[in-house]
Amino acid sequence: MKLADAVQDRTLRTIAEKVEQDIPVDQTDTRYMLATTNILDLGTIAQFVRRRLHGSIAYYGVNMNMNYTNICELRCPLCAFSCDESDEGSYVLSLDEVRERVKNAESSGIDEIHIVGGLHPRLKLDYFEGMLRCIREIKPDIFIVAFTAVEYDYFARLNDLPVETVLRRLIDAGVNAIPGGGAEIFSPHVRETIAPKKISGARWLEIMRIAHGMGLKTNATMLYNHHECVDDVVDHLFRIRALQDETHGFKTFVPLAFHETNTRIQAHRREATGYDDIRIYATSRVVLHNIPHIKALWMYVGEKMAQVLLNFGVDDMSGTYNNEKVVHAAGARTADYGSEGALRRVIMDAGMVPRRTTAGYGTKAGVTA
Ligand code: SF4
Repeated sequence: MKLADAVQDRTLRTIAEKVEQDIPVDQTDTRYMLATTNILDLGTIAQFVRRRLHGSIAYYGVNMNMNYTNICELRCPLCAFSCDESDEGSYVLSLDEVRERVKNAESSGIDEIHIVGGLHPRLKLDYFEGMLRCIREIKPDIFIVAFTAVEYDYFARLNDLPVETVLRRLIDAGVNAIPGGGAEIFSPHVRETIAPKKISGARWLEIMRIAHGMGLKTNATMLYNHHECVDDVVDHLFRIRALQDETHGFKTFVPLAFHETNTRIQAHRREATGYDDIRIYATSRVVLHNIPHIKALWMYVGEKMAQVLLNFGVDDMSGTYNNEKVVHAAGARTADYGSEGALRRVIMDAGMVPRRTTAGYGTKAGVTA
């Protein structure tokens, strides 16, 4: 059966016809998808795109999270994780502590480490080079996803170096890919409220363009359900899609539901509903036809919703994330660690085939289902 024949809603059927013919959807289509209550038709379209790319494979990772410091100059209102140096609970990991954490996680067989932290004015580039080299010494084949575009911009300014030099030095020290954090929502008026001192959306995209030009693959995120309106979401998705058309450097798009506990902004609406989550993920899958993967971080949306999303365009359940701190500081009620067995069970129970991978999406011999 043709895709469009499986879709009842008239407007969604027109969108399905475009998708079937590989015609990119436009902004009007996107607004419609973001507002529809017909999630089954929307899911049918999103799933068509997902299956065309990945069949019934669903990816997951066995990884650890490392937040090297919670001290941050910016103190964005949206952030529940950061603090000032004088605050109780502030910390900076020493290289010995980094070593110990990686050794502990390594003994449980991780493939990947995800490193992000606050913008600390006394942590110079040699601290990060030392950290990366020490991780590589412990586990030479580990996949290192490290530092957001916001951190690269800060390192460049703090060390008085071009961002290209910072990227080159950190690639040489071990970085394999860049996480998608810091994108938030590009709309300047919303950014002014939720993260007024953070780099602009334009600068975030510029750093990604430079990184892609140097051969790095990166993720892109979008923070939703705070102060943004539908047009802000549409703008965000289309700016990501346009850069991807140019560079082909984004591997994965990761929508993130905002958690407001302990932040200094109040969301304009209540916690995202199930339909909100489904509309955002499924619409992202359809709009971002040129980005291979859509990832649902189970600790943001909950394990049950992440499982449902596997049938609404998502192909990556994210990883075990031993020791996640950022979203849990903002009140996420999920566990801060998921076992590999639990992730595989959730994927198989959704009728999918689990595949263990890293942010580079190379498969790991011997563990692919
Ligand atoms: S969101 Fe990032 S840049 Fe902003 S305060 Fe938190 S750690 Fe710092």
